[in-house]
Amino acid sequence: MRLVLVGPPGAGKGTQAEFIAEHFGIPKISTGDIFRANVSGGTDLGRLAKKYMDAGDLVPDEVTNAMVRDRLDEPDCAHGFLLDGFPRNVSQAYELDGILNDLGTTLGVVLDLNVDHDEVVRRLSGRRTCKKCKHVWHIEYDRTKVDGICDKCGGELYQREDDRPETVRHRLEVYAEQTQPLIHFYTGRKQLVEIDALGTVEDVTERAIAALTPFADA
Ligand SMILES: [Zn+2]
Repeated sequence: MRLVLVGPPGAGKGTQAEFIAEHFGIPKISTGDIFRANVSGGTDLGRLAKKYMDAGDLVPDEVTNAMVRDRLDEPDCAHGFLLDGFPRNVSQAYELDGILNDLGTTLGVVLDLNVDHDEVVRRLSGRRTCKKCKHVWHIEYDRTKVDGICDKCGGELYQREDDRPETVRHRLEVYAEQTQPLIHFYTGRKQLVEIDALGTVEDVTERAIAALTPFADA
């Protein structure tokens, strides 16, 4: 199972990535994890990446690509992997082709978690964070006993800037714009599988596993 997972903010991608990887017995590889491992491990690439990050700059594609290459070459990836957060664009998709080709393999499938934008806005904009203990509540799905007051510590709840409806909508639009070419690219190659990512975590995991199982030996 050599899998790329894509999905918009608010689709629960991180959680699904863990369950899917566990089910198929493959490592879950996110660019964030790779960055942290290289930086904390003090590798040459990690030191290079840190220089950019410390300066507040984006880590260039070449550095990210080299880290992904190193990670996919590790022994635990011999029987597959789940990539989360890479590729982000068509140019990185070609890069991934090259990396896998060098490693003597190919990409199996791309799973796209589909969510209705209005639903994501409802999910995310209903979140309320405690100013004191930082616990995240939800005005529909995880309500406090008293509106606006944390059940755990009595702290005051507020809506984070990131969770405001207009911010969420903007992030979804930016995501769609950036990801559309990648989706088209993999659709054209008949490597894309879409599932509806609405519903409980368990339901979505079940749907994902059902959609992916035919590719388990690919
Ligand atoms: Zn609290």
